[in-house]
Parts: sequence; C-alpha cells; structure tokens
Amino acid sequence: MTAIRPLVAGNWKMNGLGSTLGELADLRARMKAAPVPDADVMVCPPATLLTRAAEVLDGSDIALGAQDCHPLVSGAHTGGISAEMLADAGATAVIVGHSERRIDHGETDALVNAKALAAYRAGLTAIICVGETEAQHQDGKTLDVLRGQLQGSVPEEARAADTVIAYEPVWAIGSGLTPTPADVAEVHGFIRSVVSQLLGEGESSAMRILYGGSVKPTNASELLFVPDVNGALVGGASLKASDFYGILSVYCDPPAT
Ligand code: PEP
Repeated sequence: MTAIRPLVAGNWKMNGLGSTLGELADLRARMKAAPVPDADVMVCPPATLLTRAAEVLDGSDIALGAQDCHPLVSGAHTGGISAEMLADAGATAVIVGHSERRIDHGETDALVNAKALAAYRAGLTAIICVGETEAQHQDGKTLDVLRGQLQGSVPEEARAADTVIAYEPVWAIGSGLTPTPADVAEVHGFIRSVVSQLLGEGESSAMRILYGGSVKPTNASELLFVPDVNGALVGGASLKASDFYGILSVYCDPPAT
C-alpha cells in the first residue's frame, strides 16, 4: 500500500463569529513557520464564515471545508445550503453524516449518501462520518453498525480522490473519552475492509480514514500513528489555533515545540 498523506480537519460546529477569524490568521502564521506539518490541513467553520474565512486563507496551505450540505442544487428549501453554494463560497470539501446531524436532524444513511453525491456534483470532497453510539458500543455492535452505515452512506461513485471516511465514536465526541489505540486499529482496519468490498481494493487502499473524538495535543501522537489512521477530524480542539497546531505538530519532523 502506498503511503497516504494524512489530513487533519477542524470542525468548528456551531461556533465562531467574525471575531473568531483571528484564530485562522494565527493558524496560518503558525503553519508558515518551520517545521511545517507533513499533512494536509483543513478548517470547517460555520457556513456564515465561509466567504470571510476563504479570504483569510487565500494563498495558504489550509483548505476550507463546510459542515453540511443539502442534496439538491437549488430550490424552495428554506435554510438549505447546496454543495454548489459552498463551492461558490470557497469550500473544497464538506462534512456529511456527522453524528450530530444524524441524531439532531434524523439524517439517514440514504440522505448522507445523497449529500455525498451532491458534494461530488459540486466538485467537493465528501468527508463521510460514521460511528457507533455508546449503547451500540456497550452491546458489542460497533462493527455491525459501521458496516451498515458504510454500505448505506458511501456512494458507489465514491473515489479515494474525492472521499474521506471519518470514524467518530459518538461516545468519544466532546467527552474526553477515546478508544484504545488497539481498538482504533481494529475498527479502522475493518472500515478499510468494508470500503474494499464496496469500492474495490484500489480505492480502499488509497482512501483516507480519519479518527475523530476528543483528539487533543496530549493524545494526538498516541491516536494518529495507529495503523489505518490517516489523520483526524477535530472538534473542540480546532477552535484555538494553539491547540489545533499542537495536534498538527505530531506530523512535524522534528516535532514542533
Ligand atoms: C467532532 O464532533 O467531529 C469531534 C471530533 O469533536 P471533538 O473533537 O470535540 O470530540
């Protein structure tokens, strides 16, 4: 298997005002100073900040992503934001199927699949999230749940070039809890095997599979060098440039201090 370049994506969720964009400028400045992380970096602010964030990041190595999209191009869908609108605002990627959308908004695998297709239609990379709840974890159903989510949410058209899978155990998000590195290795290996069954070995061996859930500067080196982990989706710790850069710095050689 050829080496996969890691991706670290920050998901700001429903956080951030114009005044928060200073964190992006700070991150940009940190990314310019040596040593530079050997990883792709992305920030996904709320939709209201995309255009202004694109201006702050213009000409930098930090990509801009969005947090959700509507499956359709346009129309009478009050409050909806299409993938084309996100691309027009400067995004190159969009998160789909985050557990907070699946739970808060009742999003099904079929809808997540349609949103991923919308992302491709607009030329965006789809970051497709999967993950089990605490109850499913306790019941030993993690792998069954993930197989079902992947089968339902990953379109046949998905390719490693425009698709990233994010494994985010729901019980680890924002809780400070994380699976053991051995559990992460088992689950990520399983996800890659399911992706191989769905899309073929060529795509699965090149596809980035991110870990997400309470990644912080203090645990990043333990979680991000696990086999089959190709980076992270980071929530809370992406809001401050110093914390986010602390995670990115595990990909610096020599490590940044
Ligand atoms: C997330 O919700 O995508 C996430 C990973 O959150 P946190 O890092 O805060 O657990």
